[in-house]
Amino acid sequence: MTHLTGFQRLKYAGLMQRKYGNCIVNVWMSPGHYYFSQPVMINILSQALDNVFRQPYLRNNLNDVDVVLLYSFKYAIGKDVDSMAFIKGADLFKQKNILFIHLNMVRQDKSSLVRFTRHIMNIPLSEKAFQNQLEDTLAHEMAHLAQNHLTNAASLKYERQKKIRMIFFKSASEGPVIANDYFSDVMDFPAEKMNAEQVILSIFIKAYDIFTAVEQATCSEGMASFMGTYAAGRYNPEKATITQGTGLAYAKREKGRFDSFKEYIAEINQHLLETVNKRMKIDGCFLGIIAKIKGLKFSIDPYYEIGEAICETLFRLGKMNVEQIGSMNNHKLINEYTRVCLENNIKPLITDRPRTDAVINLSDIRDSLHKLRKEILQNIKQLKSQQGKWH
Ligand SMILES: [Zn+2]
Repeated sequence: MTHLTGFQRLKYAGLMQRKYGNCIVNVWMSPGHYYFSQPVMINILSQALDNVFRQPYLRNNLNDVDVVLLYSFKYAIGKDVDSMAFIKGADLFKQKNILFIHLNMVRQDKSSLVRFTRHIMNIPLSEKAFQNQLEDTLAHEMAHLAQNHLTNAASLKYERQKKIRMIFFKSASEGPVIANDYFSDVMDFPAEKMNAEQVILSIFIKAYDIFTAVEQATCSEGMASFMGTYAAGRYNPEKATITQGTGLAYAKREKGRFDSFKEYIAEINQHLLETVNKRMKIDGCFLGIIAKIKGLKFSIDPYYEIGEAICETLFRLGKMNVEQIGSMNNHKLINEYTRVCLENNIKPLITDRPRTDAVINLSDIRDSLHKLRKEILQNIKQLKSQQGKWH
């Protein structure tokens, strides 16, 4: 069975079909390929799919999958804005297994420490390297689909984000909109049009969105990256050192970002306190701090590497198999990882356990923000009573 809509079936040409146990994979192709790209190498594609589906985690947890091979025009004209492959959030939500791959991007060398950074030389890969990269990409995206079936991550994340808005604003439609793709519009709300209380609440809602997204990305992108890099029996323990080193570097950088975030929130509080004491009006300084927070630019990218290192630890030191790692929800995954690290005397890259020594301790950060929020709202209350009406 195909998950494509009637319109999509008209738009894309059916290229091939493969069957793995109960799973039928339909491969489709966008018209761009006919005109602009090299012929799709059916043998390489079949081989890549066969290798990926050797992994029981994917074979047993997926029923029908559609793979749509796209041609990225943006990439072709030198703009590196598309991702190599993606699943639409709405499809994931409806449990529709459709994955899109920009095949012309997979043909290029993208192996770089910084993901999505285009290789300067722009030299097409050898056939073997192309097949490997195709396998990585397929395994990565398929892992997302399988994991979503097992943990229902997409709708859980949405429910959590909705709940947070209800708590703060009494209605999910108020406050900052729920971002579709994790962090893309973090802190993107019209602060200048809101009053200070609304701005503060929006900042904290976004902070909780960030925590939700960090945990979810660590789990889903981490697992998918681990599957991509180590899929189908290609696990190489020698690579572990690199994976752990990269994860650590990214985690340290993210810790810095969270520290700055806390610092700016504390600055807001300080500013409000001074205003309360001097009985002054709120000025542009307040918006200046908001701008600094926006400038932090939280992003999903580091959590591919951090999450991959976490899954690698669970696999190597926790002696867990791919099936076990891929069936855990984000809380379980981070908890198990913390346990394995502590048992092995390793400082975790990320943890949710209070007062545990880790590079990023989400629980402790959440705690100190919580305290700051209470203080800030208390100060706002006081300001309001002093000034009556204010903005
Ligand atoms: Zn992914």
